[in-house]
Amino acid sequence: MALERIKKVALFTRLIAYGFRIYFGVLRRALSGKFAALTAPKAIPPADPSEVKNVVVVGAAFAGYIASHILASSLPRDGRYRLIVIEPNSHFNFTWVLPRFSVISGHEHKAFIPYSPSFFSKSPKGMVQWVRDRVTSVRSHSVVLRSGDEIPYEFLIIATGSTVPHGLPSRIGAENREDGIEILKAMQARIKAATRIVVAGGGAAGVELATDAKNQYPDKSVTLVHSRQAVMHRFGPGLQKGALDGLQKLGVDVILGERVDPQSVDGKFITLASGREIECDCFINCTGQKPASGLIEDLAPKTITSSGHIRVKPTLQIDDDSLPNIFVCGDVADTKVANMNSRIAGQQAEIAADNIVLAARGKKPSYTYEPGWAEQVIKLTLGMGHSITHFGDGKSELLFSHRETDPALMCAGAWRSLGAKPFEDTGVYSSPSYEGTK
Ligand SMILES: Cc1cc2nc3c(=O)[nH]c(=O)nc-3n(C[C@H](O)[C@H](O)[C@H](O)COP(=O)(O)OP(=O)(O)OC[C@H]3O[C@@H](n4cnc5c(N)ncnc54)[C@H](O)[C@@H]3O)c2cc1C
Repeated sequence: MALERIKKVALFTRLIAYGFRIYFGVLRRALSGKFAALTAPKAIPPADPSEVKNVVVVGAAFAGYIASHILASSLPRDGRYRLIVIEPNSHFNFTWVLPRFSVISGHEHKAFIPYSPSFFSKSPKGMVQWVRDRVTSVRSHSVVLRSGDEIPYEFLIIATGSTVPHGLPSRIGAENREDGIEILKAMQARIKAATRIVVAGGGAAGVELATDAKNQYPDKSVTLVHSRQAVMHRFGPGLQKGALDGLQKLGVDVILGERVDPQSVDGKFITLASGREIECDCFINCTGQKPASGLIEDLAPKTITSSGHIRVKPTLQIDDDSLPNIFVCGDVADTKVANMNSRIAGQQAEIAADNIVLAARGKKPSYTYEPGWAEQVIKLTLGMGHSITHFGDGKSELLFSHRETDPALMCAGAWRSLGAKPFEDTGVYSSPSYEGTK
């Protein structure tokens, strides 16, 4: 008992020290960036606009949008560089709230944060170009879009994150806000109409959705099926137990060590791998997230790991010496992080962007990413009014319990930090379309 207490105190002290280290790291990078900008030799702007070089960012979510924000304010301001952001979604899809908004109504619009030129207000006029499209393949000096256009790049950031084949509750599965809102409403209606809900997957999305559904509709049967012996199995035993307690307290049936056979879903029953049948008129699959690395399959197949992530160097350059100008960050990057989250995606985005700024100034990329234990903190909701926050370093864990009062999970803060006014939709980003060399 006393030893456990000492371990927790030690962990708490490490947590505070870690916070300081992060803070000073950010400060150091910000100051050295400013110093580099002040001391950089004056570069001569190109006389011919076709000589302007492109820095291309593929994907604009927690990694790509943050990287674009940093690049827009830090790339040399002499007209030698243009920043091109390529993103198929009309709005920033705020993943955190998707399990909750799959269940409760009236908040769907809050999951779609408008992309806005104001997020790039510190960039020189005309430097940022927004392309609403999807990259289908990456070549050594250009990217090819679904539209057939080809955009050359001097530097590239791949921030394509993860995908799921079946959409909600992990991703929306549509590119337009309006379609996304309808998809969320359809899921809410399906849950409302159901009597026996089965959720597959005991990771965060599955646990949050199952607890919200049971909390909102206590008379319905909600069953969570998970293939491992504990829910939230990637985290420490404290969180595993906290999550299981939260599920069971609300009355969710938890079946461990079993898989759902998705082929067996017929609207009345589902069958588990063991052959066991469960009554089910609403099946929700919360498994199957995969890194979106297909766009480099032809160019650098050897950098794709068996899990589908893209292997990177500590500088977040792709792990292929022939492609030093390609950087990868966020969920798609293989950075040996056990539990990725959006804070880590944002930190990696800063490092990738800062390294490109160094390279654009003729210096060697030197900022590096190293996974830190405390970054993998998680806040897990367990029904509408309760959440737990977990820190763990593999030896000890800290678990904090909270009462939650905001059904929209304080997503207004995310809108503000992404330069948008909650919850005012300003429409689809518009900037002069790309007119570079085809
Ligand atoms: C349900 C759920 C809840 C979560 N809750 C939390 C939480 O509470 N806190 C937390 O910190 N993290 C949370 N996470 C994790 C977090 O969402 C991810 O770590 C984060 O989204 C990773 O950001 P990313 O930018 O790397 O990738 P993504 O968010 O997946 O974004 C990738 C972007 O790239 C675009 N893209 C993909 N392919 C292409 C292409 N070929 N061409 C152009 N663009 C492309 C996509 O449209 C998308 O906008 C949650 C995740 C899920 C699924």
